[in-house]
Amino acid sequence: MFREAIEQMSGYVPGEQPRGMKLVKLNTNENPYPPSPKVVAAIQAAAEEGLQRYPDPSASAFRNRAAEVLSAHNAEITPDWILCGNGSDDILTIATRAFVDQGRAVRYPWPTYSLYKTLAEIQGVRHEAVPCEPDWSVGFELTAPSDDVRLVYLANPNSPSGTLLEPGEVAAIADTLDCPLLVDEAYVDFAETNCLDLVRTNERVLVSRTLSKSYGLAGLRFGYLVAQPHVIEQLAKVKDSYNCDTLSIAGATAAIDDQAWLADNVTKVVAERQRLDAGLLAAGFDTVDSRANFVWATHPTGQHEAIYQNLKAEGVLVRLIRHPGWSGGDDGLRVSVGTPAQTDTLLALLATL
Ligand code: PMP
Repeated sequence: MFREAIEQMSGYVPGEQPRGMKLVKLNTNENPYPPSPKVVAAIQAAAEEGLQRYPDPSASAFRNRAAEVLSAHNAEITPDWILCGNGSDDILTIATRAFVDQGRAVRYPWPTYSLYKTLAEIQGVRHEAVPCEPDWSVGFELTAPSDDVRLVYLANPNSPSGTLLEPGEVAAIADTLDCPLLVDEAYVDFAETNCLDLVRTNERVLVSRTLSKSYGLAGLRFGYLVAQPHVIEQLAKVKDSYNCDTLSIAGATAAIDDQAWLADNVTKVVAERQRLDAGLLAAGFDTVDSRANFVWATHPTGQHEAIYQNLKAEGVLVRLIRHPGWSGGDDGLRVSVGTPAQTDTLLALLATL
């Protein structure tokens, strides 16, 4: 009944999203703080204006405002450099659909965001996971010549490590590749540098962003891509016509407009990241210096499953991530940055385990 390839797929398994329970939820890198109040007001206003019409297929309101905001921080970007998506997962899907023909392949450093593999499986193409070194530096095989590789995904900062490649390092990778490099900047607002300027000088560099993390809007589903206009034009052909709805376009536009709210939020999260990292080290974990809103922690005992279960039993949810066969270790815990009170709860519990 189904394509054989579908039966063999594992499918993407999202992090646990329990409802109606009082949990310290540190497992899916959401923001512990709410979005700007202007977002809620804009959504309310859009709903009152009426929902009987289809949304703007190209989300122009967001693209116009985002172009202004991005141009203030980086080289000039106009709305035709931006494509909007139903979360950045949608952007990743659109790029995979557009660039990777049957029989070809995608490539990515590994361990990383597990959706990349799933997207390749859905598209029915091969995936080449290039192992990182145990210190998470990117393996040189990422840029090895290939006739088949049609898209390279690069999460920067990476997940689950939180490690960041500087723009010069990403430019060197892009210049060596002869296929598009999709720099997935889901967590970039928590870092000091980003790769947006590379898009101007190299048509093969595409940068995806999301409002799910730094803007505190994982429930809204809004992401976007920045690439050269001729690339955006082609990608727009394979997106769903109405991939962003009226309410999310209104909310996302208000969110990107409120840069002061974003900056305040990021400052709080980055400060708490330092405290979380120090607390995990004091509790006996090894951590990786993170540039994102989470910390990768491994314990010398290797008892990550037991620690995860013990924390869960006490109402603290972190993410147990497995990547069997990797030279840097088979698994570990990814802990999202929460509020100071949430960090306190986690650290107090770890001290009792
Ligand atoms: N990229 C990375 C590296 C992520 O961790 C996530 C979050 N799961 C996403 C993209 C997708 O985020 P969203 O679809 O919520 O924009």
